[in-house]
Amino acid sequence: MAQQLLTQNTFKKAIAALILTVGAGSALSVQAADEINIYSDRQAFLMKPILDAFTEDTGIKVNIVFAKSGLIQRLKSEGLNSPADLMLTSNVSNLTRAVEAGVTQKVDDPVINKNVPAKYRDENGQWFGLTTRARVIYTSKERVKPGEIKTYEDMADPKFAGRICTRKGDHTYNVALIASMIAHHGEADTKQWLEGVKANLARKPQGNDRAQVKAVKEGVCDIAVGNTYYYGKMLTNDEQRAWAESVNIVYPNQDGRGSHVNISGMVMTKSSPNHESALKLMRFLTEDHAQKIYAEQNFEFPVKQGVSASKVVDHWGEFKADDIALSKVDQYRKRAAMMVNEVGYND
Ligand code: FE
Repeated sequence: MAQQLLTQNTFKKAIAALILTVGAGSALSVQAADEINIYSDRQAFLMKPILDAFTEDTGIKVNIVFAKSGLIQRLKSEGLNSPADLMLTSNVSNLTRAVEAGVTQKVDDPVINKNVPAKYRDENGQWFGLTTRARVIYTSKERVKPGEIKTYEDMADPKFAGRICTRKGDHTYNVALIASMIAHHGEADTKQWLEGVKANLARKPQGNDRAQVKAVKEGVCDIAVGNTYYYGKMLTNDEQRAWAESVNIVYPNQDGRGSHVNISGMVMTKSSPNHESALKLMRFLTEDHAQKIYAEQNFEFPVKQGVSASKVVDHWGEFKADDIALSKVDQYRKRAAMMVNEVGYND
């Protein structure tokens, strides 16, 4: 790896020198050498304010390629010829899948390691979280009393028969939640729990997280499961505001281990043509200013301690997050996905 980086850097410097020579040091040539490329499943317009601030600070130009899916496959097929330096994506599973696909490289940087708590980064330095989101329970303001449901475990209680809505069990968000249950309770208990949740469903799993809250509003069910940022997205959407206003947010397991959280995060690609500048951007994204803006854009929580969430997000209240390392939860990802099939969750 060191050898490869050295070669890449030497090559890059040689090219830069060549451009400078040929272009007689024109601004354009210098800029062309100091550009980085990001593959992201977060839309480019959301990223623009942060990236502009970075360019202003450093003079490094940042290009962003947005794709809702398929980024890992793209990196894999481009191999070492890929122009990408960084990939930004959500969910620890996408980050670890990138590692498994062999398209990442280790970053061991004191600034990033200080800013990102250990539970939100890979112990081998292959991926780092940037924001967190909790997977919460949304309850009908009209039909569920405060305190009536307090934990993920409660969702399997027969008293909630016919009252719960979720999206499909094999969606990454639910797989991660089930994996965290396995990490805490073991396989046998988790399977029993999942069977209990399935038995309580008001309808066959369908739709996305927001569709579950809509179903609560429409009286299809009383209890839904969804990520926190969708609450903000619904509140700022004219059509969906009423859905959000029909529910309370319940942060599960507050008297115990805390709520399950996942992350959005980043990796440096194995091929990164501009490793040093990419590292600068990675650091920048973990510092206070970028943390605040980056989290705010999607109603998420910053990973860095001491950086406050946006006013809207703050309004939903403080909560205790599960302290388990996400890399440990992710170890049960495949087992969790199998369990969804075993209990016929989507049938
Ligand atoms: Fe989402």
